[in-house]
Amino acid sequence: MNPEYEAVIGLEVHAQLLTDTKIFCGCSTKFGNPPNTNVCPICLGHPGVLPVLNKKVVEFAVLMGLATNCRINFDSVFARKNYFYPDLPKGYQISQYEAPICENGFVEIELKDGTKRNIGLTRIHMEEDAGKSIHDLAEATYVDVNRCGVPLIEIVSEPDMHTPEEAYEYLSRIRQTVQYLGICDGNMEEGSLRCDANVSVRLKGEKKLGTKTEVKNMNSFKNVEKALLYEIDRQIEILEDGGRIIQETLLWDAGNNIALPMRSKEEAHDYRYFPEPDLMPVAISQEWFNEIKAGLPELPKERKLRFISEFSLPVYDAEILTSSRDLADYYEKAVSVTKDYKSVSNWVMGEVLKIVNENKITVSSFSIRPENLGRLINLINDNTVSGKIAKDVFQIMLGEDKDPAVIIKERNLVQITDTSELEGVIDSVLESNPKDVKEFLSGKEKVIGFFVGQIMKETKGKANPKAVNEILRKRLNALR
Ligand code: ADP
Ligand code: ZN
Ligand code: MG
Repeated sequence: MNPEYEAVIGLEVHAQLLTDTKIFCGCSTKFGNPPNTNVCPICLGHPGVLPVLNKKVVEFAVLMGLATNCRINFDSVFARKNYFYPDLPKGYQISQYEAPICENGFVEIELKDGTKRNIGLTRIHMEEDAGKSIHDLAEATYVDVNRCGVPLIEIVSEPDMHTPEEAYEYLSRIRQTVQYLGICDGNMEEGSLRCDANVSVRLKGEKKLGTKTEVKNMNSFKNVEKALLYEIDRQIEILEDGGRIIQETLLWDAGNNIALPMRSKEEAHDYRYFPEPDLMPVAISQEWFNEIKAGLPELPKERKLRFISEFSLPVYDAEILTSSRDLADYYEKAVSVTKDYKSVSNWVMGEVLKIVNENKITVSSFSIRPENLGRLINLINDNTVSGKIAKDVFQIMLGEDKDPAVIIKERNLVQITDTSELEGVIDSVLESNPKDVKEFLSGKEKVIGFFVGQIMKETKGKANPKAVNEILRKRLNALR
């Protein structure tokens, strides 16, 4: 990026809400049902039908507003956004325009170099989703309207971000927040979280905003970052060549790593917004508001601070463990059976996350119950198994999620700490390797490692390493 320029970025994020039913009718929101089966006259927009607002949608929107420091408008109104598109049978989308439910919030982001910044939120409003056009079946374009009327919140940021990294961090915060609140699963790949990126550039020091473009169609965090890098460079190049930016909508093509303009007819917008005549204004009573607020769960930042104080964890650990609600829940369940908080943290950040990431699964579908992991750590600490054997037990637990004590007993993996048993093994190893013993006696300390290896081999790794070292040294010194 040309250092004389500064980018300006504002994001519009759509989050599909995890309600059982749609926003204005009783149809199911279930994903993956056969096309055009989750429908009724209301979400199909038949003449004369009346929408009824789903109370849960209001509650979820308020929760998000509270979690992002917004002002909650106790009175808000729905509006009709009129446009024609095949996946919109009604010919309009019910959304909010003037008087959205939440306004004037902010989200704190932290960059890799540790700097923290607040990104302003202009507004959060409630709206219904449109259907889906399916273009990739060869002969024709098909329309599936199951998604019509699925509830969304749209979170609109101020043009407060200046780098793709900031946009990435902002988006991560938004996802983390909706997941903690349990109002959206946050899955960008599946489209339950979608992001449109508005971007412009200007010379550093310039106060006036440049002409923006809007980039759509990025289905992962990485693609948002890539699309922004691409678009910032493209705009700077145009300006450097003496050109002008045209305000337009671009679609990100992830296969070719380029953003291409939508056909201009598709983005000629004149939505003719007007207040939705079929719905009453949304009025939130103080009592209802208090009830919603009381249901606000512990949020990532508070949970992180609590992990630091309650479990004496380093900031780094607390940060990772609270990065998602599932992971934080997993950790807390594991430490419910052990006091060794730091070891649990090491195992969760190490072994557990390794498998979760390698297999691209979620923490909640990880096969070992957290309590069993906690028990395994207790069995290391009370010397029932060595740390090394514990890794093997962990592997076994991946396939059979049993109490590790049972696995250790069944497979005879209990650590050998009994001195006389260890002495027997050690003596026989020393006897069968006289040459190495001689080397040791002539001052080659390193041979110790070889002996330990042999002893571990003899005991199938079950010898207590500390006891082995002590006895081995004693035996060797006696030979001097
Ligand atoms: P539109 O009328 O095109 O929808 P809005 O003013 O509603 O534009 O803003 C939509 C999004 O674009 C917001 O997130 C806002 O922060 C961002 N935005 C507005 N102007 C600019 C700009 N000049 N450069 C970058 N982002 C911008
Ligand atoms: Zn319906
Ligand atoms: Mg707008």
